Amino acid sequence: MNEPADLVINTRWIAPVAPVDTVLENHAVAVRDGRIVGVMPQAEAHRHYRAERVVSLPTHLLIPGMVNLHAHAAMNLMRGIADDLPLMRWLQEAIWPTEARHVSPAFVRDGTRLAAAEMLRGGVTTCNDMYFHPEAAAEAFAEMGMRAVVGMVMLEFPTPYASDADDYLRKGLAARDRWSAHPLIQFSVAPHAPYTVSDASFARALAIAEELDLAIHIHVHETSQEIADSLAAHGCRPLARLARLGVLGQNTIAVHVVHLDETDLELLQRHACSVAHCPTSNMKLGSGIPDISRMLAAGLRVGLGTDGAASNNRLDMFHEMRHAALLAKAASRDPTVVPAQTALRMATLDGASALGMADWIGSIEVGKLADLCAVDLGAVDCQPCFDPVSHLVHVAGREHVSHVWVNGETRVDKGAALLHINDSELLRLSSVWQTRFSN
Ligand SMILES: [Zn+2]
Repeated sequence: MNEPADLVINTRWIAPVAPVDTVLENHAVAVRDGRIVGVMPQAEAHRHYRAERVVSLPTHLLIPGMVNLHAHAAMNLMRGIADDLPLMRWLQEAIWPTEARHVSPAFVRDGTRLAAAEMLRGGVTTCNDMYFHPEAAAEAFAEMGMRAVVGMVMLEFPTPYASDADDYLRKGLAARDRWSAHPLIQFSVAPHAPYTVSDASFARALAIAEELDLAIHIHVHETSQEIADSLAAHGCRPLARLARLGVLGQNTIAVHVVHLDETDLELLQRHACSVAHCPTSNMKLGSGIPDISRMLAAGLRVGLGTDGAASNNRLDMFHEMRHAALLAKAASRDPTVVPAQTALRMATLDGASALGMADWIGSIEVGKLADLCAVDLGAVDCQPCFDPVSHLVHVAGREHVSHVWVNGETRVDKGAALLHINDSELLRLSSVWQTRFSN
């Protein structure tokens, strides 16, 4: 009883993710100053720590807070606005017209607030985001107490946010200057996609990413049309073009990569790129099924993302874990691929590694930040439980999330969100925007 701790969590199971494939039973996690200072059997922790607060989770599995490796948080305001369309029609007929009329700092702030509330409740503690007005997204994530990597988005064409590629970059860098000292907020360079960004703009994006050591967050090989268009316009596939431009590297997060041939795979491998797999969005937009088992076998880092709420239509990493596992099994006709521990690692440590943040988050290890999620497996619909990680992926859902901590601070407590903005205010914000869209 000598070492002080702010918080000791006694829990039935811990899936720390590192070391791999481990489940600890009846262990405790001790937290001080926002960091994990001990992981040990409960009896030992009881003797060792003088804890300010003790949380007992007798039927729970504690996992690292999940990392949503690809989202457009503000699009929560457009959840369900258009379904059952392929990507380009969905963008051209529904999303871009609504954005052209309504996107503003207030839109992004409110949409991101709603998204952060949804994600935190569902055990997601870090979001890799890409949208207009990154300064408003950063403000909302910081206000809601959620860790985020905010993309400095870049497109070639004008929107209400910016006039041309240089203007996007200038505004993105100004947002970064304002927010990058915040403990929860990081930035990335986010050229939207090969088909919306020119060679010259990619060169500028790359120079900034290299100078500031930032991740490059980009949609790539989402549809077969994208590849056909690139062959017609540039004489090569998008990934080959990005490689020629020097954009592929270990800081590059290639989102989707639904369509992949041997050369594409070799490029991603050679440049040590990460992939953000968004299985639900790929299924919903009918984009296809990425060959995740092949990517994993090739040693690629594959994290999981929800994409925006307008193409999913929920920011639910439990669904992404399960869909990733099931799709990979179905596509490869091999039930041994993407076991539950792999799906959990993709949703946590692999996402953190892709963002260059694996030294601080993504696993439950001494020295890392206390971004944690407890899932209560004690309910009747989770019985019996032979393997808690299997249950996490194939049985439980975000409704079973009981506690969430970011930097050791409580965001969800016994199922109740403790956020800066309460539910009635979030409901009001959502309703204001829905009314605006219909007028
Ligand atoms: Zn996306």
